[in-house]
Amino acid sequence: MTESSAAFRGSEILIDNSIDLASGDAPATWWQCRATAELSSAAEVELYLPCMAGQATRLWRLPEGLAAPNGHRWLPLREAVYQLPEDTWLSAARAMAYANWRAANRFCGRCGTKNIDKADELAVQCPACGNLGFPRLSPAILAVVYKDGQLLLARNAANKAGFWSLLAGFVEPGERFEDCVKREVREEVGIEIEVDSYLGSQPWPFPDQLMIGFSARWVAGELHPDGLEIAEAGWFSPTALPFVPKTGSLSRRLIDQACRNLTTS
Ligand SMILES: [Zn+2]
Repeated sequence: MTESSAAFRGSEILIDNSIDLASGDAPATWWQCRATAELSSAAEVELYLPCMAGQATRLWRLPEGLAAPNGHRWLPLREAVYQLPEDTWLSAARAMAYANWRAANRFCGRCGTKNIDKADELAVQCPACGNLGFPRLSPAILAVVYKDGQLLLARNAANKAGFWSLLAGFVEPGERFEDCVKREVREEVGIEIEVDSYLGSQPWPFPDQLMIGFSARWVAGELHPDGLEIAEAGWFSPTALPFVPKTGSLSRRLIDQACRNLTTS
């Protein structure tokens, strides 16, 4: 098997200058870069991924501010999310998450000794106390809430783009997904719901979320946005949607699906 290379700088990926994601015909291996001694010597982290999109891949995590080598440029991975099919960007997202996780776990969280890579799996181990560290995932729910032929959308106070989206929130320790959906909706807009079904998921490595979508229906209460996280919330019919997120994210996919459901029901 041939070995390929991928390099990251924070949430940016190093790509060949000849790659044009917007053209619609970017190669499946768009995420590969040419391995150089310069990359290897500058890397904060070097990791070996046995199977990335069917190829063994060497990953580098490079320091902030490092210029792209000749013939390459840095591309925010989010741009790939919005321009490529999910199957095409997910492998790069997975690699970036590993590279960033490894950079953030150079030392044991328990005793401070420098971690070493485990030989048989993608994990770190402390040579002094034996503490094991695995890549971190932060599960977060998305809530598709229906009421009387309308869909609940909200505008997040921190969202500079000003779009309206599904309510979302991180799963807390000791909480089931469905409990999290109910709690987040209650905390953010003050209504009670029933959770009906699982709708899908999407890794979102900015830095380490796993988004999980659920369908729910309104049971009681009036919308009262919390004013902190949620600036505004409302019920929308599919024919009068506000400004919603760009195509590519799970939230947009679920909004589109909800609108189709409302239109055909
Ligand atoms: Zn330790």
